[in-house]
Amino acid sequence: MVKDLTTLTFYGGVNEIGGNKILLQDRDTKVFFDFGMSFTAKKQFYSPPFLSPKNEKSLQELGILPQIKGVYKFDQTPPETNAVFLSHGHLDHSAYLSFIKREIPVYCGETTQIILRTLSEIRRADLEFNVADINFNVFRTGKKIKVDNLIVEPIHVDHSIPGAYGFLIQTSNGTIVYTGDFRDHGAKPEMTQEFVQKARETEPVAIVTEATNMIAATVSNEVEVEAKLDKIASEVDGIMLAEFGYSDVDRLNTFYQVTKKNNRCLAVSLKQAYLLDALRNDMHLQVPALDDDGLLIFRKSKKRYDKWETKLIERCDDVGKIFDVFEVSKQQCKVVLAVSFYDFEELIAIQPTSGSCYVLSASEPFNEEMEIDYERLVNWLSHYGLPQYHVHVSGHMMPLQLRAALRKVNAKRVFPVHTENAELFKKFMGNATGQVTLVEKSKEYQV
Ligand SMILES: [Zn+2]
Ligand SMILES: [Zn+2]
Repeated sequence: MVKDLTTLTFYGGVNEIGGNKILLQDRDTKVFFDFGMSFTAKKQFYSPPFLSPKNEKSLQELGILPQIKGVYKFDQTPPETNAVFLSHGHLDHSAYLSFIKREIPVYCGETTQIILRTLSEIRRADLEFNVADINFNVFRTGKKIKVDNLIVEPIHVDHSIPGAYGFLIQTSNGTIVYTGDFRDHGAKPEMTQEFVQKARETEPVAIVTEATNMIAATVSNEVEVEAKLDKIASEVDGIMLAEFGYSDVDRLNTFYQVTKKNNRCLAVSLKQAYLLDALRNDMHLQVPALDDDGLLIFRKSKKRYDKWETKLIERCDDVGKIFDVFEVSKQQCKVVLAVSFYDFEELIAIQPTSGSCYVLSASEPFNEEMEIDYERLVNWLSHYGLPQYHVHVSGHMMPLQLRAALRKVNAKRVFPVHTENAELFKKFMGNATGQVTLVEKSKEYQV
């Protein structure tokens, strides 16, 4: 093999949304960018909790976990990878760290480390999500990290989870840019603009870009989401049920603002409260404190609580912060209750009054499995007379904005990932960007 080559190999995120595992090799240096779980590949074979993978052999047999030498803790070969960099904490980018040899350093933002560590306390560790003993090294935007031949510079971007980064990677054959997941219509578009500008200044030879939103594009932003939620909150008579991503802290802040303005309290789940409390340690993030007047913690009715739940309940109960179904039921017009569809059993005790409503503030169902649940969701809503509003903006760049950003970065080559519409993307980009390469899984591309 010629020694001075720089190559990219895509072990995930190819013709699918998520599952990114991108190997960059520069001479003898090997670095992975993201190491996520592929929901698409997994759903082809498994349907948890009744049909779940037993061990890593099952995952490898079915092609859900790629065959790569010198990376996994279950193979006895010495490590052949210098580092893993995580763009952000979504599981489709981070969960399969579980399988990484513990001597391989993992670089991520401080926030991502907090999120993954908190998540591992909340969920019982399982085969596919276990970050115990991971050798985390945290960075902030603009820090330059030298890994052998490479210099990796993370730059913050706006996405639907805090602590998301793109990367500028100096290789021996020029700079390669990786966008991670990003958007410019969220709460902090200026971060993405800064990333695009800095990427441009490096005159990159290649960019690996997400291209998620090619067929479900919308025109909106987080400010508009807030205005719409405010309109609903100001008119709703009974309880306002709100469904949004557990780690979407920007959306939680939006709900918090709206709730406060309309003289209600935002009742979050124990899980959300626990994450918020952990994120308070991150000086760079703005999140409400658990003792904030505008915040309540909703305790689901169940027989047994986990240790972290008991601790949280004990701590917050004394100051009257914990609400159970009966208290929520009595004060429906005073509350915006953060719920997940999987909490709907609680509605039986709450008994939403007439004039209540349900707001879906997350993505619409986009696969078969969710569609089945969607039918059930509609049945529950019908049973309690709850109309459904959909108020949301995606965590990903919209097509025209992505085209403008890529034109600005002006990389010689473009590798679209994290999309089911790579061909559409290529035609849409036309001559506006460098040469677009449609990638195949596990194939090596010279840069
Ligand atoms: Zn993703
Ligand atoms: Zn993401």
